[in-house]
Amino acid sequence: MYFVANWKMYGVKNSLNTLDKVIKFSNSKEIKKGRIIYCPPYTLLSSFYKKFQNCLIDIGAQNCHESTEYGAHTGFVNSKMIKNIGANYVIIGHSENRNKGETDKLINQKIKSAINAKLKVILCIGESLKEKRSGKTKSVLSKQIKYGLDKIKIKTNLFIAYEPVWSIGTGKIPKPSELNQAIKFIKGKFKKKSPQILYGGSVNTSNIKNLKNIKGLNGFLIGGASQNAKNFIDIVKKTYN
Ligand code: PEP
Repeated sequence: MYFVANWKMYGVKNSLNTLDKVIKFSNSKEIKKGRIIYCPPYTLLSSFYKKFQNCLIDIGAQNCHESTEYGAHTGFVNSKMIKNIGANYVIIGHSENRNKGETDKLINQKIKSAINAKLKVILCIGESLKEKRSGKTKSVLSKQIKYGLDKIKIKTNLFIAYEPVWSIGTGKIPKPSELNQAIKFIKGKFKKKSPQILYGGSVNTSNIKNLKNIKGLNGFLIGGASQNAKNFIDIVKKTYN
């Protein structure tokens, strides 16, 4: 199981001290077969890389520019730069960025650039509350997968994070039946080998006991709860107990 911590636009140098507990946990037997990946803001990627050098915790970025080349793009960072800093993952298509205008076409270009840089991609997909209420969940997921992954053949380093927009940061999670359906539907979109499927949206220390029983999940993308080391560790522990 993968446990991906999305720190969003939180975290300063001092936040690194809170990671000692997680490092200790990651070196213990308690972690079982869990794999931890931290996605801090760009400003902390290098410090996280150094901090995690002697443990198995991996790092990723929260987004990337679509260009495979360096260039005159003030304020942006491309996949090559992310790989160069020691990161192995990148989150692409997060709803907070889709809401700011990222289209499936742009997301597709970003994924291609990330694959080119040998980064593992965590593609976020999910429906809004309005889309859910009007019965459009499947068509939204279909569209995001179809256009997001257009002309992408190599799917080995691909994770799909099902993150219903209405669930992110709200404390609400889908019913088990809704989640089962969505996961089955996503998997069904891949003829040969399905990518690893993660669930994201308000995962916390209480609801993990229900979420861990959902079949077909390969892990969780955790926002708010991942900023507290104890809670994050608890989520991993409870997944296995
Ligand atoms: C996220 O932003 O990817 C996320 C899942 O956030 P939260 O856990 O806070 O809902």
